[in-house]
Formats: sequence, structure tokens, C-alpha cells
Amino acid sequence: QEQIFDVHIAALESDHSVLMAFVDTAPQEEAGQMRSDFVANVSHELRTPLTALTGFIETLRGPARDDAAARARFLNIMAEEAGRMNRLVTDLLSLSRVEDMARMRPTDLVDLDQVIAMVATTLGPAAADRQVELVIQPCDEQPVLVTGDRDQLTQVVTNLTENAIKYGREGGNVRITTRALEQVPAFKGPGVEVSVEDDGDGIDPKHLGRLTERFYRVDTHRSREMGGTGLGLAIVKHIVNRHRGRLRIESAMGQGSTFTVTLPAAAAG
Ligand code: ADP
Repeated sequence: QEQIFDVHIAALESDHSVLMAFVDTAPQEEAGQMRSDFVANVSHELRTPLTALTGFIETLRGPARDDAAARARFLNIMAEEAGRMNRLVTDLLSLSRVEDMARMRPTDLVDLDQVIAMVATTLGPAAADRQVELVIQPCDEQPVLVTGDRDQLTQVVTNLTENAIKYGREGGNVRITTRALEQVPAFKGPGVEVSVEDDGDGIDPKHLGRLTERFYRVDTHRSREMGGTGLGLAIVKHIVNRHRGRLRIESAMGQGSTFTVTLPAAAAG
């Protein structure tokens, strides 16, 4: 009954301006090819900052040895490149841990509105940096409870909110909403939903289906500039799969993006 899950685009529906990609949980196994692509990607991602570091070390040893201003500048760049490697390794470990736990049923009783409140506090400074207002809209009818892994669900909300801050409009709003759903056909029961919506430039619909692939970026330069590793949404996808949930991405150019995670509601009682 247990399956290996991967991204599968179950439906790609167009209603004039908005394309939705339902990132589904259908089993799909191309393990060999995927693994070697992954290793090639990781090597490339690590080599880029490493090459920069090696170059600057040479420069500091030679031409820049007696130039204090150049030394200071190069050391700043080196610190940034080291930081990039550090984030990459952190995200790789995170992804690998999430994959290892794919078959373990999570058992925490998690209130998503509490998770969101915590994430909003943590990301307050990052939002302020881009003059982004975080607008939290909790579900007011009932607590949104799921049986899940609290740390992983925190990571999901964190990654989606971080992206909305990074790729949304500077000076714009990021809206985080929760909803209780009486009946979700895919779950044959009630569900809960978290949406993270930004008012940024949006994403060209042709990219939507691939966003959760490891290292897939719409704009590599922008992602790099924002300190992205290209693994955030891959981590989100794996966590959502472990929770038997669904990820829906809605976006249109010039109209912002909405990332929605739907999870089975915790059983009553
Ligand atoms: P990264 O570390 O590059 O942010 P992610 O896996 O989190 O990696 O996201 C993959 C890509 O999806 C990003 O590089 C960006 O191009 C795109 N993306 C993610 N979230 C948004 C968003 N809210 N608006 C526009 N583009 C987004």
C-alpha cells in the first residue's frame, strides 16, 4: 500500500488568465536517471560558490595582497558564497531527512493557525526588509487541526511565505489564510487548507508544473540574488506528500501567485 511518491501533474486547467497546476501524489519511478541528474545538479550548485571562493583566495594571495579595500570587498563576497554553500547543505539535509521519513506516519496534533502565527513572527524581519506586510487571516469558525509533523508543517509554511516575500512585490502584501473544508473528495472526508498569496509579478503558467522539481527556478539570477537554493518547493512537496495532502499553485503573469496546501483534517475526538 505504501508508495514512492513524486510530482505528477494531475490536471492543468485554464480559465483564461489563471493556470493551476495540481501537484499530485501519483507514484512515479525513474529513480536511476533522477538520482544521477540530482548528483550532477548538486555538484554544479556546490561548485559555483566553490569556484568563486578558490578564485578569491588566489586573488587575495596575489594581486590584492596589499590592497586593503579590495581585501575587505573580496572577504565580503567570500562570506556570502560560504553562506550560500551553507544554505545549500542545510536544505539538502532537510530534503534527505524528509525523504527518509516519507513512510512514517506523523502523529502531532497541529493547529495550523498557531504554526502560521509562529512563522509570521520568525519572518517578520525578512518581510520588513522588503516592506512587505504579512496579513494573517485565521479560520474563525473552528481550529484548523491536522495530525501531522509540527516541524515539517512549520517548514512548509515557512518556505511558502519566504518565497512570497522574496518573489512578491516589494512594498506589497502577503496574505496567509486558513480554511476548514467540510468535504474533500480526494480525502473522502474533511480537510483544512492554508493559502499563501502574494501580489507580485506572478509566474508564467508554463513553469507551474515544474516548480517543485529540485533546483528548478524560473529566474536563476533572481533566485541566487535572493539567496535561494532551488530546493524550497521540493521540500514542500515531499512534506505535503508525507501528509497525504495536495499542493495547488495558481498564478498568472502580473497577478501574483497563490500556493495552497490542502491536508486531511484531524479526526474528531
Ligand atoms: P528558490 O530557492 O529558488 O526560491 P524554490 O524551490 O523555493 O527555490 O522555488 C523555485 C522557484 O519558483 C523560484 O526560484 C522562483 O522562480 C519560483 N517561485 C517560487 N515561489 C514564487 C512566488 N511566490 N512568486 C513567483 N515565483 C515563485
